[in-house]
Amino acid sequence: MLLRTLSNLDDLDYYGKKVLMRVDFNVTIGKDNEIGEDYRIRMTIPSIEYLTKRGAKLILMSHLGRPKKTAEMEYKQTNKIQQYATSGIDINAIKQFSLLPVAKRLSELIQMYNVSFIDDCIGPKVQKEIDKMDRGDILLLENLRFHSGEELNDYNFSKELASLADIYVNDAFSVSHRKHASIYGGARLFDKKLAGLNLKKELEYLSMVKDDPVKPFILVVGGSKIKDKIGALENLLPKIDKLLVGGAMAYTFLNANGVRTGDSPIDYDHFQWIKNALSKYPDKIVLPIDHIVTSQSFLKFKQEESNEKKEEGKEGNYNYTFDSLPSSVFSPSLVSSPSSSVSLKKGAIEEGLLGVDIGIETVQQYSSIISQNSNGLVVWIGPMGVFEIGLFRNGTNNIAKSMALAFWRGSKTIIGGGDTLDALKKAEVSELEVTHVSTGGGATLKFLAGDEMPGIEVLNKIH
Ligand code: AMP
Repeated sequence: MLLRTLSNLDDLDYYGKKVLMRVDFNVTIGKDNEIGEDYRIRMTIPSIEYLTKRGAKLILMSHLGRPKKTAEMEYKQTNKIQQYATSGIDINAIKQFSLLPVAKRLSELIQMYNVSFIDDCIGPKVQKEIDKMDRGDILLLENLRFHSGEELNDYNFSKELASLADIYVNDAFSVSHRKHASIYGGARLFDKKLAGLNLKKELEYLSMVKDDPVKPFILVVGGSKIKDKIGALENLLPKIDKLLVGGAMAYTFLNANGVRTGDSPIDYDHFQWIKNALSKYPDKIVLPIDHIVTSQSFLKFKQEESNEKKEEGKEGNYNYTFDSLPSSVFSPSLVSSPSSSVSLKKGAIEEGLLGVDIGIETVQQYSSIISQNSNGLVVWIGPMGVFEIGLFRNGTNNIAKSMALAFWRGSKTIIGGGDTLDALKKAEVSELEVTHVSTGGGATLKFLAGDEMPGIEVLNKIH
């Protein structure tokens, strides 16, 4: 698809013009309004600077979290659902979803420009603020999802958004699979609608993966939800040289292959598809041969402990060495409970235990397949285990390090955003040691599956 991007307009077309750019500033904001990982904000800097340098008045819009859903839940919990139904969302109940801290972070990142913020995204107050803008100014609008019209792709809300500017830019690949007003309905109403530089870059890399992958092509897939990944797997399997499977989803693959997987969760909805894939591509699909296993109760205990530590900011890594994994690791605080053990199991997993990470031999095997790929392509989507917990992060950490090695040896390496970027950071691998980090989780998988991407298709529509 030939996409019109920022460079398709003459520089002068931007001078003094109002440009409305959809970005994805959906970042984590802590209790003290501290921004967590700001990769998504940093990725928009090239487009922001391209436009401001050419004298545009740049209006940025984004969503943050799910304010409506959270507000509904809070009303439900306090038995005020009746009140919610009649009065709509109480802004005070959803203040935690304000983009104000993001405006502050953005102004720290791009010190040369004037970044301001307005506490709504449509209406006369916003229009007035835009009228005051000078060339090169940046205005960040409040969370689009404070208006229900955003997610409903409502025509009137779309019209209000479109009335704010002369030119529309989409630089938010990660939401381009959604038919929301700021991505689709509003975009349709502009004559001039363009792809931003971040969106362009995402599409270049992901189109290469989807349509013409560099060979040899290795796909590493993990995490728990098979449903989200099956379309991409279906589309890519014919082109892949090796598919390395880890994470919770590996147990459904193993089970479909006749291996006992104990209490590991099995996705029966996709069981048949996996059986067919395993018989069609027996030489391509590589499954774990050993596992870190534990009991359901110990996993739950560690998850609760990890949540507490996250709140205290005291998380740590637990790295096994290849040759020194103890057969059993005990938590000192639970040493009296037999269910507290974590062990390394080769082959079948017995009842009462579940796999929470790939084992040492699997780590060695996967790491060597990945890092020996020196002039091909490695794509990694999803963690190898319950990586949020240090004890079960070893597999994921080693895959991250092998990805970096493959990159330094000359391969193109791509990771699919969200959890995988977080996993990379936890392994202390820099995003500069990866060819491309996709900002989209769901969008990346949908794109690789060949699904419709309304936010991209709309850019080529002339109305
Ligand atoms: P997904 O959103 O499908 O990529 O899944 C990511 C989640 O999968 C993470 O929160 C991991 O904790 C979880 N996960 C990965 N491996 C396992 C496993 N073996 N058992 C349970 N959860 C897992």
